[in-house]
Amino acid sequence: MPNMSLNKCPMPEQDPNVRNKNFEEVALGYTAEMALEEAQRCLNCKNKPCVSGCPVGVKIPEFIALVAEGKFLEAAAKIKETSSLPAVCGRVCPQESQCECKCVRGIKGEPVAIGRLERFVADYAMQHEQAKAARPQPNGHKCAIVGAGPAGLTCAGDLARMGYEVTVFEALHTAGGVLMYGIPEFRLPKAIVQKEIDTLKELGVEFVLNFVVGRSETIDDLFADGYEAIFVGSGAGLPTFMRVPGENYNGVYSANEYLTRVNLMKAYKENADTPILRAKKVAVVGGGNVAMDAARCAKRMGADEVYVVYRRGEAEMPARLEEIHHAKEEGIVFKFLTAPLEVIGNPDTYMVEGLKCQQMELGEPDASGRRRPVPVEGSEFTLDLDAVIVAIGTSPNPLIRSTTPGLETNKRGCIVADDEHGITSKDGVFAGGDAVTGAATVILAMGAGKRAAAAMDEYIKNKQ
Ligand SMILES: Cc1cc2nc3c(=O)[nH]c(=O)nc-3n(C[C@H](O)[C@H](O)[C@H](O)COP(=O)(O)OP(=O)(O)OC[C@H]3O[C@@H](n4cnc5c(N)ncnc54)[C@H](O)[C@@H]3O)c2cc1C
Repeated sequence: MPNMSLNKCPMPEQDPNVRNKNFEEVALGYTAEMALEEAQRCLNCKNKPCVSGCPVGVKIPEFIALVAEGKFLEAAAKIKETSSLPAVCGRVCPQESQCECKCVRGIKGEPVAIGRLERFVADYAMQHEQAKAARPQPNGHKCAIVGAGPAGLTCAGDLARMGYEVTVFEALHTAGGVLMYGIPEFRLPKAIVQKEIDTLKELGVEFVLNFVVGRSETIDDLFADGYEAIFVGSGAGLPTFMRVPGENYNGVYSANEYLTRVNLMKAYKENADTPILRAKKVAVVGGGNVAMDAARCAKRMGADEVYVVYRRGEAEMPARLEEIHHAKEEGIVFKFLTAPLEVIGNPDTYMVEGLKCQQMELGEPDASGRRRPVPVEGSEFTLDLDAVIVAIGTSPNPLIRSTTPGLETNKRGCIVADDEHGITSKDGVFAGGDAVTGAATVILAMGAGKRAAAAMDEYIKNKQ
């Protein structure tokens, strides 16, 4: 008999006024009892609409049925048939616009908490599975991966399981991409990401860190080293700035720099020697997940007042609903329909003192289909601040395209690759994730890495 409760079983969380001062995980996860209760809300629909909402086609009703029977390890194995990072996806996927928005239980009441159940079984498996990943039989062929984000890690894992000798070349000193340097510890503990990377190492994947492809060696050099196919998953880490006066004042950060200092370089730890401005009044410009993460980090780094300045309305915000909700609970103040005009700085100290803003209203829809923000005349005002964090988007770094002859990119600087296989204009080079789509999501990057691995296998086999 299914559990016909209209609401998801709630997930315990840290109290907002406690958690906004620490970097420990906000959501605490289901207990086994909660998971059993929630799994019984799934109606196991024949046509599985939830699966059609998942970019990697996780077998959702099947894994939830196993949870309902208390077979948690089997449920984890079922998810891993199609998704290589379930503990990550269970935490950061925008389920509300993917699997859960297709759930029939959502028609009258809340959908089944698919993300929370995924997180539960993935965590359970991490705690209870003792066996190390078995090394597959080598097939004698070598592949290289550029970038150790979710796209590259997924591609590496799939190729290693097929017997390839896989080397991942990563520019930073740590593998994980945005999962390590961008998404904060309180949303995605780094130990979880590290565990996934360790599993790849057990499979035989080799990681070469501090290696910038395009500087240390080019893609063509890697071919000369004997790699037969190369996957580029170099992400979209180049920040866009506001292009308003005053952006060079001290105390203006790109969200990427700010989050890298806080997360990767551990500025939040008491003994860290990472330089960072511990600002008291901060504005974060933007409305996506990156803006929410930056704002919530700034609060935890000791700011008394944190504003999110966003030029459209709340309904247009691209951030996940849960992140907006959590940010509000933690005391972040949202300035909707507000656009930045100028960073005000002190000409003697060169430090930020404020952000001049203008009120907006929504006009006709623009090319993206969202209503265009239009300035309201005479509505300028200034926020009194000592730091501004810019989170209005990123694009791929030009290094790879400028050092790889024959690799076609589009006018946004993204590598042109076919969606189904990741094939690029350069023979033997495959690409996927944010480097191809521009800033997107973890699950889309993983899906691209997975499809490219299959295509690289095909490519190498056909060359023999
Ligand atoms: C702060 C933040 C929060 C986010 N929150 C969410 C969320 O909640 N949910 C969600 O689904 N998505 C979220 N995203 C988006 C998601 O993280 C990305 O879409 C995803 O990480 C893209 O994966 P990727 O593997 O393509 O690239 P990345 O994760 O960017 O990894 C690319 C890797 O390539 C390396 N690299 C780059 N150039 C080179 C080079 N020349 N040589 C060697 N290595 C190189 C980089 O150092 C990096 O490690 C967030 C992004 C950010 C920045």
